Amino acid sequence: MLKLEDSYIHKGQRRNLVHTLRHKGIKDEAVLEAVNTFPRHFFFDSALLSHAYEDKAFPIGEGQTISQPYTVAFQTSLLQVKPGDKVLEIGTGSGYQAGILYGMGAKVHTIEFNKVLYERTRKFLPKIGIRVSHYCGDGSKGLPEQAPFDKIIVTAGAPAVPKTLLKQLALGGLMVIPVGDRSTQQMLRLTKQTEKKILKENFDNFAFVPLLGEEGWQ
Ligand code: SAM
Repeated sequence: MLKLEDSYIHKGQRRNLVHTLRHKGIKDEAVLEAVNTFPRHFFFDSALLSHAYEDKAFPIGEGQTISQPYTVAFQTSLLQVKPGDKVLEIGTGSGYQAGILYGMGAKVHTIEFNKVLYERTRKFLPKIGIRVSHYCGDGSKGLPEQAPFDKIIVTAGAPAVPKTLLKQLALGGLMVIPVGDRSTQQMLRLTKQTEKKILKENFDNFAFVPLLGEEGWQ
């Protein structure tokens, strides 16, 4: 059983990771502080532990990954998280991204399609003090019973922007979502300016695992 210890070595590794993220262009100090504070090594089993602070994605089982820290920092920066924001995350995975959002003061609702990952992460996050609301199901359809959301972050690659998710965004709300084909996606930020007017901004390309489900890949 892995001990959940955060040593001065881990803290030093996190400082180095933050330095790397700054160097790669992440400027949002609140995001950098959340990465600096939150122990990513808690999400790694002993075989991969020494890689926890590399700026890389790693397998978490079930064919899924914990996202690269740069990707987490980039998406979170675009989301402009403020304390008290009600945030929907699609694709809980390991729970690392949810922990970063929680650390920034967001009220997080996170949904995962894969039952094994959902159960594992739902049980694990409270053990490390992360209190978020977990749901199991098809996040491409959002979470109508909890809508509207100030922010929506999709952490899997979608073929198109799910219309249902846009409906569940509050007026003035932001959605950050990678959209493209199964191998490469462009990061988009959508701002709901009025019920009918959506501002779309395009950013860099990334490689996410596919968003499955009704408004994802079939
Ligand atoms: N945010 C995660 C983290 O911090 O570890 C990384 C997410 S991983 C790149 C993508 C996740 O999206 C996978 O766990 C996958 O099972 C999940 N997923 C794919 N399609 C989904 C859907 N329709 N609804 C909810 N989760 C979905």
